Amino acid sequence: MRQILVSGLALCLAACAASPTATPPIALKPAATMPEAKPGGVWTHGGMIAAANPLAVEAGLEILRAGGSAVDAAIAVQTALGLVEPQSSGIGGGSFMLHYDAETGDVVAYDGREVAPAAATDRLFLDDAGNPLPFWTAVKSGRSQGVPGAVAMLHMAWEEHGKLPWSRSFQPAIKLASDGFMISPRLNGVATQLKRITEPGPDVMSYLMDSTGTPLPAGTLLKNAAYADTLTQIANQGPKAFYEGPIAADIVARSGQAPMPGTLSLEDLKAYKPNKLEPICRAYRARKVCGMGPPSSGGIGVMATLGILENFDMGATGPNDPLGWHRFIEAQRLAYVDRDTYVADDRYVAVPIAGLLDATYLKSRAALISDSATMKSVEPGEPPGAVKRGRDATGNVFGTTHFVIVDQRGNVVSMTTTVESLFGSQRMVRGFFLNNQLTDFSFRNVDANGEPIANAPAGGKKPRSSMAPTIVFDKDGHFELAVGSPGGNAIIAYVAKAMVGMLDWNMSPQDAVALPNIVARSSPVALDRTRASPELIKGLEALGQTFRDGGGAEGSGLHVVRLTPQGLVGGADPRREGVARKP
Ligand code: GLU
Repeated sequence: MRQILVSGLALCLAACAASPTATPPIALKPAATMPEAKPGGVWTHGGMIAAANPLAVEAGLEILRAGGSAVDAAIAVQTALGLVEPQSSGIGGGSFMLHYDAETGDVVAYDGREVAPAAATDRLFLDDAGNPLPFWTAVKSGRSQGVPGAVAMLHMAWEEHGKLPWSRSFQPAIKLASDGFMISPRLNGVATQLKRITEPGPDVMSYLMDSTGTPLPAGTLLKNAAYADTLTQIANQGPKAFYEGPIAADIVARSGQAPMPGTLSLEDLKAYKPNKLEPICRAYRARKVCGMGPPSSGGIGVMATLGILENFDMGATGPNDPLGWHRFIEAQRLAYVDRDTYVADDRYVAVPIAGLLDATYLKSRAALISDSATMKSVEPGEPPGAVKRGRDATGNVFGTTHFVIVDQRGNVVSMTTTVESLFGSQRMVRGFFLNNQLTDFSFRNVDANGEPIANAPAGGKKPRSSMAPTIVFDKDGHFELAVGSPGGNAIIAYVAKAMVGMLDWNMSPQDAVALPNIVARSSPVALDRTRASPELIKGLEALGQTFRDGGGAEGSGLHVVRLTPQGLVGGADPRREGVARKP
């Protein structure tokens, strides 16, 4: 295991030390006030699932009712989402799962991120002249597919936490694919949206458009026998059916087709291994927050934002007070610039996790924030243990989905899962879409000053993610809530917003996820104007904030389950079509 984090400070172990760019480990400091996650004890609160599509929620609930664990239900939810929400995630993509075991109190992070083919180089997305390929050219090319990790990761988690037979949890999605499901308004909407952004790949056209190229309307019954067959093989034979044999051969063949064939090989698929990692955990005021470390920047980004905000009395400002939002915007800007600079696959580059989350360092970053004016410019800081790097400008498009499952024993899954862009690479194999996850790498390998970019592509490397599945424990160490969102690099802003809403502003999960999204990757800041009051916008403008529409402000899909004195309460982002339901 390559990182251990105790009370917000990381110990850089074996792989990190072996890296040519590794920095010496940072000494551990004693735990501050962070409670340790505790076993759940006698659980009397039942279960709940919050996910982006009601059919997928129902698939998971069927498994919970049959006595399945949160992980069993996650298999059902994922395989159903791959059918009813194929624009976002599926077995052709990758995932991160945070799991809390109510019996032992253990929190672990499963890493099912895609890896680049062994033959990939740092010129993966450069043309012959050394210029970055246009984004959509890269997405739809054969070069964008990493080895899909979702199936292997789910299997690893199931081996440790499954209660039902592996094959049982595939049955709801197999039935749904065979009998057919109604195309939802959102699926129709994204197919329409894709046509406006780029010429959809031929597989999207044949699967989701009619003979005139018009997206099939919402309410159309769609069957997917090929997907049912693929799932049946994986259900009966295990992950081997996916990573070796005819399914693997078809994945390799599709990726090897024009335009711009990739180098994905049968050996790459066979060699794929998911990881089980320590999550990164840090205190936020009295609570303990656990999230996903590298290759995701999500946990670091969320915790750095919160760690900066910890230096302000956020509770004294509420959701209508521009000052609280101003601080939130400024904290994001500081956290994002560090994330852009220092975070990548830590098996390849040393990531100063401890430094980035160090309370003293974040206090020094918070001191840059003025309560009366926005910062003129934002530069990366120098967190303890950091090596100077170039800042990259990785692109951002919205696929991805997040779901939360609490089972009837109190075990928790918080899982973000993705094919990257809408319908991934838009290349379909046996009823599922292949990811374009490798476009999460920086297309350039050095920045304008010639500094090497941490997140440049390399064979076997994982592209940096922003996915931020999160679990929060209360001041006594008991499970309190799980949250996460899709949204590309804006995920960090969305998840941090929901947490500030719930933890600092005492809002319900539903009200917190519905708060306006304000994404401060840079200036002007992206704002979801339809949900922000004119008074709030005016107040922020008076502090010097400038806004633009779009830029990801509407791309969230936050899903939450929180344990309250009234029992489990869910939140489903009104920007998507999800629900939170009990078995
Ligand atoms: N591929 C992105 C990531 O791993 C997620 C994309 C999205 O949320 O739409 O961070």
